[in-house]
Amino acid sequence: MIFLGTGASEGIPDPFCNCEVCRKARESGDPREIRGRSAFAIDSHNLIDFGPDAHLASARFGVPLYELKNIFYTHFHSDHFDLINWESIRMSLTPPHISVYLSEPAFRGMQHYRELLSAHYPDRDRDFRFYDEYIHMIPVRPFEPFETDNMKVCALRTIHEGAFMGETALNYLFERKGKRFLYASDTGLYEEDNYNYLQGKLLNTLIMECSFGNAVRQPGFKHLTCEFISQMIERFCEDGVVNNRTEIYLTHIGHKGGLNHLELQQKMRDMIGMQVEVAYDGLRIADI
Ligand SMILES: [Zn+2]
Ligand SMILES: [Zn+2]
Ligand SMILES: [Zn+2]
Repeated sequence: MIFLGTGASEGIPDPFCNCEVCRKARESGDPREIRGRSAFAIDSHNLIDFGPDAHLASARFGVPLYELKNIFYTHFHSDHFDLINWESIRMSLTPPHISVYLSEPAFRGMQHYRELLSAHYPDRDRDFRFYDEYIHMIPVRPFEPFETDNMKVCALRTIHEGAFMGETALNYLFERKGKRFLYASDTGLYEEDNYNYLQGKLLNTLIMECSFGNAVRQPGFKHLTCEFISQMIERFCEDGVVNNRTEIYLTHIGHKGGLNHLELQQKMRDMIGMQVEVAYDGLRIADI
């Protein structure tokens, strides 16, 4: 599995920002400090999110997508979904047929988006007619597992509001060959329904967002801070979801968290005292 984009919506550095995090990221020369927008490849068939930088990351990190079968969209904020990436599918001489998994409100939102664009832009109407043939949108509901590509997949619910009316982001739990993996971005603190569903389901790999690092936020906030992550991991440990063999990675890192890569790494290791690694673009981790 490989991280193709580990930045929050503005990426790091935000080109329009000269804060300390962005400045250090530019000056450090450390490639881990340069973060594109969200995308994660489980393997050559399965992708989670497809942000605007995923196109270039695919080439940079040697992850071609011509065999892609599934994209699991957490939500349709533009750092996770960008129509320009679908345009590359349309321009392909060997376009793959892709199933796109998304929440029900996002499915309705995409239909409406299509109607609006098609009514005003003939080019977009043409694009969407192509997508009808190659991109199959499948709405999914939280806590209703389904199978695809030898994986059991189940969406979890979050309080992170998405781009469309009524949309909240999905997180995804994957199981394959006895291994379990949770992708938790974008989210906010979990509510009891997620904890209940996950109870006793020990994870091999846990990926969580860390958009707001050192910042102080109140419960109900739509992203995670180091403090929120620490609280969630404590609960996961109590519930038998995480133990000291679970590999934990942080992604969706934003400059508003106030910490650069190694600072965030150190802070989280001190706070959690477990195996936790701040991901970076191009980081490869154990497959499921
Ligand atoms: Zn995001
Ligand atoms: Zn900045
Ligand atoms: Zn978002």
